[in-house]
Amino acid sequence: MTERALPENIILVGGCIDAGTNQPTEENLDSKRISEGSYHLYRTAGSPSLDVGEFIRKFADYLNSIDQFLNFAHTDCGGYIAAGDDSSRKHNQDLEALGTTLLKQKPTIRYSGHLIELEHNRPHTFAACAIILGKPEIIRASNAELRSLGLEDVHDKIARPFELSVDDGSIWSDLEISLNLHHPKKILIFDESEENARMLMEKVREIADGVPVETRVISQAA
Ligand SMILES: [Zn+2]
Repeated sequence: MTERALPENIILVGGCIDAGTNQPTEENLDSKRISEGSYHLYRTAGSPSLDVGEFIRKFADYLNSIDQFLNFAHTDCGGYIAAGDDSSRKHNQDLEALGTTLLKQKPTIRYSGHLIELEHNRPHTFAACAIILGKPEIIRASNAELRSLGLEDVHDKIARPFELSVDDGSIWSDLEISLNLHHPKKILIFDESEENARMLMEKVREIADGVPVETRVISQAA
């Protein structure tokens, strides 16, 4: 694969995989006039603030490219419940801790942490899980497709902003969490490379035995 320079002044949006956060996140971005197709997306179980150290390690090489980072955590979060404290106070502490650590690494970054309040008695079974290469054009295309399938608010979203590597174990632990907590009936993969999408599909089949999986290759404008 050819190494391409990252674009500068990226807007990064972070969040949990939980389907319940899809709509509130989009509404928040709309209110800030951040449109689909203008940001990169990182969605991982618990949100990036669940493990600040891991986030900083993963993104050390990319911080120069990131101008703005909006991070969304949520209450009634499986990741936080498993860790023992899902209170708003804990979420807000972690959102702030991520910002503090990030600003030490890159003082010019514009960071904001947001807490989405979800009710504990909401539905916890979702129709689908989407694994998405979180680049702007692919986010736009995958959102359009998921909307047309009626899955907009009922799919867990696993996204990595720069590459979807079959060797990235965190994608597969996110998928296991989605399968265990939300029992998706279908898994969709959105990537820019047909070959990579096929490798991801094979890995998904190993993990999600018997759950149908489909790939969508979104070719990027040069
Ligand atoms: Zn969550």
